Amino acid sequence: MSVTTPVATAAPPDQVTPRRAPRDEGQWALGSTQPLNANEQLKADDDGLNVRARIEEVYAREGFASITPEDLNGRFRWWGLYTQRRPGIPGGRTASLEPHELSDEYFLLRVRSDGGRLSLAQVRAIAHVSTTYARDTADVTDRQNIQLHWIRIEDVPAVWTALESVGLTTAEACGDTPRVILGSPVAGVAADEIIDGTPAIDEIVSRYVGDPSLSNLPRKFKTAVSGSPHQDVAHEVNDLSFVGVVHPELGPGFDVFVGGGLSTNPRFAERLGAFVALEEVPEVWHAVVRLFRDYGYRRLRTKARLKFLVADWGIERFRDVLETEYLHRPLPDGPAPAAPPTRRDHVGVHPQRDGLFYVGVAPVVGRVSGTTLAALADLAESVGSDRVRLTAQQKLLVLDVPGDRVAELSAGLRRLGLDPEPSEFRRGTMACTGLEFCKLAISETKGTAARAVAELEERLPDFRHPLSLHVNGCPNSCARIQVADIGLKGQLVTDAEGQQVEGFQVHLGGELGPEDRLGRKPRGLKVTGEELPAYVERLARRFEEQRGADETFASWARRADEGDLA
Ligand code: SF4
Repeated sequence: MSVTTPVATAAPPDQVTPRRAPRDEGQWALGSTQPLNANEQLKADDDGLNVRARIEEVYAREGFASITPEDLNGRFRWWGLYTQRRPGIPGGRTASLEPHELSDEYFLLRVRSDGGRLSLAQVRAIAHVSTTYARDTADVTDRQNIQLHWIRIEDVPAVWTALESVGLTTAEACGDTPRVILGSPVAGVAADEIIDGTPAIDEIVSRYVGDPSLSNLPRKFKTAVSGSPHQDVAHEVNDLSFVGVVHPELGPGFDVFVGGGLSTNPRFAERLGAFVALEEVPEVWHAVVRLFRDYGYRRLRTKARLKFLVADWGIERFRDVLETEYLHRPLPDGPAPAAPPTRRDHVGVHPQRDGLFYVGVAPVVGRVSGTTLAALADLAESVGSDRVRLTAQQKLLVLDVPGDRVAELSAGLRRLGLDPEPSEFRRGTMACTGLEFCKLAISETKGTAARAVAELEERLPDFRHPLSLHVNGCPNSCARIQVADIGLKGQLVTDAEGQQVEGFQVHLGGELGPEDRLGRKPRGLKVTGEELPAYVERLARRFEEQRGADETFASWARRADEGDLA
């Protein structure tokens, strides 16, 4: 047998394997302006903001059946409207049904409250809309919005008229747009404030919300501004955040964070390392949003958030492009914010810098109602207040309360189910919309979490440690499960009888702050809604038994044996 020895020869030029071209990610700044998926095509065909005229002139008059699928499942979001989930569809069917099968003919409507600020006239307008058009629903979201349900298309113009008459809007409350801007709920009043970011929020909203040059972003864009040392806006998980600091030469201003977000690919925001003065915040905000619009990835929606660009570029390149191409000037370097205190939610009675007080209360899982909001407005007015604030933890504050009226207000709030001295379970529990109304949900959330709170208050009446329990109906993390002491991700689980039921995967020991970490996921650890109170009780008792001096739940959960977390 003869063996032929292979001889290395250079391939002729036409046989050389070409180097693979960089994948086209649909970045406009690189000349890729052809839509690469159906969502991009929809936005290119017609701007989402334009759907308002059709709602007012056609759909509200001719009814639900007249709405085109492109507007219904796409552009309606630009005005804060989603169809809600049809009642009675179990979570196990979510992935297998088409949008029209999952959708009801009613809408969820998000009302913006940038900075979480509401006058009593605005609270009353929302209460009126809720009781008149939304079956008395109203949820405080962890993005300082109020969310209403059961809205009919025929009523949307009247709802807008009622809201807009008091300066509220639903513009860009959803969609691939600059969403509501989170702000410290104690901006301008807190005695310990570093800087009040309110003027910057107001300027951004008045200049840019509804601006058609920013209404086709690659994906949603979440902003937060807080000059509070409590860092009360979850800046670590927003696309762009401004956090109060004091520069040694330039005085109070903001440190800048970019590229945070949770969902199925969680990533903490990174410090740009730059210092921004209050009056420069709108300019820098505008520059970052345009950078995102132009360089953001538009090929896959699952990779379109700003965090993916920041991860690929690195923070140095991001700052360089921002300064060179958008700001046309360098920003000064700046200091990092100091570590915040453990409590960031403003619940309880606190002094304002003007001698008055603010009172923070904990509606269970953010759920109130139009009736409750109307009563809250009357109560606040009766003690001389004209302002309410929403927090990024689904809580409510009443501002400007004279010291001698605090007890009266607190008693009235308690009668409304809004306790200023809530149990740790009531205080620390948040839940997303879940199976009740959300088409992406697998598990029920608000009712499950509220029942757990009630049971835990009975089982552990003396539990006195901060404990965050965040409940999501699916992996999208609207309730920030990966950064909670106990985070629950909705999914199907197998129960004791071997049946597939709606339940939760458990994340433990996540937290925000200087030690920000994602929770651990002990292998195979899942609970059903029914098991939840007993499971949390078990964990809470073990934590109390095993914790070191001053140890938080999160740090205990990270070091605890898996057997103790089951
Ligand atoms: Fe819906 Fe999932 Fe978000 Fe909950 S986390 S509101 S179920 S998308």
